[in-house]
Amino acid sequence: QAEDPRAAAIPRYVRVNTLMGTTEDTISTLTSRGFEFSGPFDSTKGFAADSLIPDLLLFSPQTQFHEDPLYKSGKLILQDKASCFPAVVLDPPCSGGAVVLDATAAPGNKTSHLSALMQNKGKLFAFEKDRKRFGTLTKMLSKAGCTNVQSVHADFLSVSPSDEKYGAVTHILLDPSCSGSGIVNRMDYLMESEIESDDTQEERLNKLAAFQLTMIKHAMKFRSVVKIVYSTCSIHAVENEQVVSQALKSDEARAGKFGLASRSQVLPLWHRRGVPTEMDDPTHAECVVRCSPGEDGTNGFFVACFVKEAGNNDLKR
Ligand code: SAM
Repeated sequence: QAEDPRAAAIPRYVRVNTLMGTTEDTISTLTSRGFEFSGPFDSTKGFAADSLIPDLLLFSPQTQFHEDPLYKSGKLILQDKASCFPAVVLDPPCSGGAVVLDATAAPGNKTSHLSALMQNKGKLFAFEKDRKRFGTLTKMLSKAGCTNVQSVHADFLSVSPSDEKYGAVTHILLDPSCSGSGIVNRMDYLMESEIESDDTQEERLNKLAAFQLTMIKHAMKFRSVVKIVYSTCSIHAVENEQVVSQALKSDEARAGKFGLASRSQVLPLWHRRGVPTEMDDPTHAECVVRCSPGEDGTNGFFVACFVKEAGNNDLKR
């Protein structure tokens, strides 16, 4: 399949796996091999540090890493900038007592990012329901040196929110299956959404949106959860702003006292926010993040963050 021409405007993003080395050391290794830090991207040797996401490096779109020893050893992870947003917004606790859950984990880029932000401390449950993708996940996490992750081959929806095992989970990452309509280069995406179907586009999007809403509502039922980050690599409002508006007025949100985290907690410096006309309350659009494929130097993406009201005044309902 031919690559989308917008892919040429997206740098090659590489996240330093801080579980296996520092960004400083990685930059030294790369410069000792002839790469030029802060160099221009018109040469395949120039690279820079991202201004928003810590430990993320940018290279020219042509630069290849699949054979690079740093990539092969798990020290570098090929991950689009937008795909780094959810873990940064979830901002998981980093302590021995932390308990975090990634509900839809394979291939594992965001799980390994969470694990790195937690510095391998506490516990991170990583759910994946597809057997083959679960295999990819466990390989990826082992390669990345993630020792605080317990991978679970199961459907997140089959887990009872009152199961004691998950009673201490405070943070949930939800990056469920979506249309993938924002993806213009395939750096780190496994496209499980491309399964053949007789549905029209509208039917398919409505089914995905219903599933995504069910997942958010399920996450809201876990007893100790205080923060849920929802993301998609879709550009369709039906999977993004509209799902968030539905979730906010659900019984689960009311019972769990969940509202939308304010802009100050959701990458406040990122310029592109949600589409106001697609939300029940147009002021909520400020609180969510969008990436426009190609235009923002990333794939298309969407992130929203739900937080529990108790003790949190910085919240929109
Ligand atoms: N977060 C992943 C990453 O960054 O590498 C990508 C996740 S991908 C968009 C969605 C994944 O969720 C797929 O692997 C899919 O098989 C899995 N999935 C879908 N529904 C699920 C469910 N109910 N429970 C657990 N996993 C599910």
